[in-house]
Order: sequence, then C-alpha cells, then structure tokens
Amino acid sequence: MSSASTSRRRRKNNSLRKDKMEEACGVFGIYAPGQDLLRLTNYALYALQHRGQESAGIALSDGDNIHLKKGPGLVSEVFPHLRDLEDIPAVAAIGHVRYSTTGGTRPENAQPLLIRYRHGSLAVAHNGNLVNAAELRDRLEKEGSIFQTTTDSELITHLIARYGYNDLESSLKGVLPYLHGAYTFLFLTEDKLVGLRDPYGIRPLSLGRLNDHYVLASETCAFDTIGAEMIRDINPGEMVVITREGIKSTQILPSHRSALCIFEFIYFARPDSNINGENVHLVRKKLGRLLAREHPVAADIVTGVPDSSLTAASGFAEEIGLPYEMGLIKNRYIGRTFIQPRQEIRNIGVQLKLNPVKKVVEGKRVVVVDDSIVRGTTSKKLVNMFFKAGAKEVHMRISSSAIISPCYYGIDMQTHEELVGSKRKIEEIRQEIGATSLGYLSIQGMLDSVGLPPEDFCLACFSGEYPI
Ligand code: SF4
Repeated sequence: MSSASTSRRRRKNNSLRKDKMEEACGVFGIYAPGQDLLRLTNYALYALQHRGQESAGIALSDGDNIHLKKGPGLVSEVFPHLRDLEDIPAVAAIGHVRYSTTGGTRPENAQPLLIRYRHGSLAVAHNGNLVNAAELRDRLEKEGSIFQTTTDSELITHLIARYGYNDLESSLKGVLPYLHGAYTFLFLTEDKLVGLRDPYGIRPLSLGRLNDHYVLASETCAFDTIGAEMIRDINPGEMVVITREGIKSTQILPSHRSALCIFEFIYFARPDSNINGENVHLVRKKLGRLLAREHPVAADIVTGVPDSSLTAASGFAEEIGLPYEMGLIKNRYIGRTFIQPRQEIRNIGVQLKLNPVKKVVEGKRVVVVDDSIVRGTTSKKLVNMFFKAGAKEVHMRISSSAIISPCYYGIDMQTHEELVGSKRKIEEIRQEIGATSLGYLSIQGMLDSVGLPPEDFCLACFSGEYPI
C-alpha cells in the first residue's frame, strides 16, 4: 500500500472518530506452566479493557503449538465462554485488547497475530504505532511479502520471517532497528515469552510476579486483578525473555532518553495503576490541584467528566475549597462500539452517554473539569447540556495543556485539522465551545503533578516537539 493511500485512509478513519482520544491497545503475557493461563489472561484482559474495546484475543502455547482465539468486540463478547481453548495445558500465553489507529477496524486486524514460519510458530501482541510503517510495508511488498492484515503490527512478523535467524532474540536484534516509532511488543513462541519496549519507552510495560512465575502487562492493574505483584517497569529499549529457566534481560536497543506518553497519567491508564512508581489516581488529584491554583474561579460547585476526570475534579474542589458534586452521570451500559461512525449518530451518542444532574447544577456557577479537549465537539455539547440543565455559568477547566499537534505514536489524533487547539487561541476555543471561561493546565503544571523528570516524557502533542 502506498503511503498516500495509507494517509488517505487514515484521514477517512479519523473523520469518523468520536471526540475523545483513544488508546491503542493493552497487552498481557504470562509464563506459568501448569497454571490456568486461559482464565488468568482472560481476567487480565478485563482489567485492561479500557485500553481498547474493538477486539480481543488470546494466544496460548502448549509447549509444541500455539492456539489462538480472537475476534471483534469486548473481552466478554470474544470470550463469553472459554470452552474453545479450555482443555489446552498451556505453558505461556499472551493477550491483547485493541483500539485501532493504523489499519482500521477490520476483523483480521484483531491481535495477537499468529504466524507459522520456518523456525516455528510466533504470536505477536503490539501496543503503539510505527511512524515508518507505510515505507516498510512498501518495501516488503516489493520484495514479495503478502500481508494478511492492514496493521503496522504485522510488519515485525514479516521482518522476522524474512531477515531473522534461528532464535527469536537474534532475529529481534537484527530487525528492530528497522522500526521507528512507538512499540511495546509481546512475543510468544512454543517455549518462551518475550517482552520489549521501544528505545523511548513511549508505551508502558511492567513486569510482575505471580508466585514463582513472571507476568508482563501494559498496566499494573492487570497484576492486581490476577493476584500478581509488581516487580518493576521494563526500561526503554529493554527486552526480557522468559523461559522455563527463568528471566533474562537485555538492552536490545540503546536508549538515550525516555519519552513515556504523559497522557498515560492524564487519561489512559486506570487510576489504580502505577507507572514509574507513581500512582495514577494520586497524580490526577495533583493535576486538579495545580489546575485550581493556575485557574481559580468564583463558582458554587465543581464537577468532573466521568470517569477519567473525576479524580482531577476532586483535587480541584479540595484546592479551591468548593463542594465536589456528581453533576454529570455516565451511562455505563453504552459500549464504545455503540457509537457508530456517522456524524449524526455521534451527536446522539454524547447525549446518551452523559447527562447532567439538573437539581445539582440548576442556578449554580459550575466548574466542569475534563482531562483534555481534542476536537472540541464534546466540550461544546457538554457546556450546552449544563446550560440547558439550568447552570448559571459553566467554567471549563482542563487538567492537561492545549493539544496543538497530532500524535504519531499510536493515539487517535493524527492530523492538525482535527485538533481544535491546533490553530485557535484559548479565547477562540472558549467561544467555540460556549463556556463562560476556559483554563488549561500548563505544561509545567502537568510535569510538576507527575513528579518525574520532564525529560522522561513525550509532550509532543502539547509542544510540537517530537522525540522521534
Ligand atoms: S504525542 Fe501526546 S498522546 Fe502521543 S505519545 Fe506523545 S504525549 Fe502521548
């Protein structure tokens, strides 16, 4: 596929997105012979469901073969019963939940991907986005590769099959330098589990322990769910290989700096997860506190947009000394898949999903805390809803800075045109969404909240400075 057709399709896909950035996948892996790996992986995927709702899958190795079950939908829809894989005495497994950025929503794009090549079987689960995917695909297709999916994740399997060696570690060492962008990969062969992060560590990956066995997951909440303990985060450019003999760590690619996506703290990760030793809930609370210090306002109540902004809203309320109220209720029974990719349906979707509590907001000056504004359409509808519900004033406060640049590393905002903050000043955005006032947290405020060195993070969508 040409890069032009890829970007055309991408633009088309983007125009169909709902107005919130989306994470692009969660991964889980476990090496634990004799354990009920199917159920453990299934439960871990439930814990990671917030990272992707379009498809789910599990690959299990029985020591000789890899068995795969995957499909479109939520974990509960793909695995309503576990019968299909139930009787397999597995030694290791990987699982994946997907939200598509590159490649769209085709059923064949569900992961893990499974290939059988001259060195055996290989299952792959990927979180991230390769910035040179179109070029690589072009090159491989010219050399004779036939792709089964439209995802960038499949590239690594072709590179390994074409240029790889007998063992997976040497193959990865040889082919990883071809890849540019954000990638956290889990690989499963008949007898080993491999996890690695790109040299910037843009997407997270943590290592945990379940009794005497090792587990890997995008977020530590998956460890809690299955009773595993967090050991540490995998470092940027680090590869861990887990086999019957134990675990071996290698710095497979040199890493000069970390560039973890700061949105993991602001929006993507579950509040009960810890990243780089910091708890996501506590960071969000601090984001809200610093937001209140930077943008105080005379108001009656503070409320948050469920679910990811509730913690920041409570921090804001505490700092400013105003009551924190549930001013907006989310209908939890509308899955994201309900929101069909048509503008008119999308409009209805917001109203079905969120509803202001009239008796709480009527006649009040309301501070509404949200974690971000991407396209601005949801914020506009929210402000309108609050006014319609009787709010006297609606003060929007955003617990991140203005998003001015696209993300090329796996988050669903890939063009300047779709970003309301790209070409407009704050006052113009305020007018666009119709709020009484609007305040964004500064980049410094975000960094102070996270409490880790600024050079450890990717801030590209706020600053326009891309680490890759
Ligand atoms: S550009 Fe923004 S959303 Fe993308 S990885 Fe960097 S911080 Fe995260």
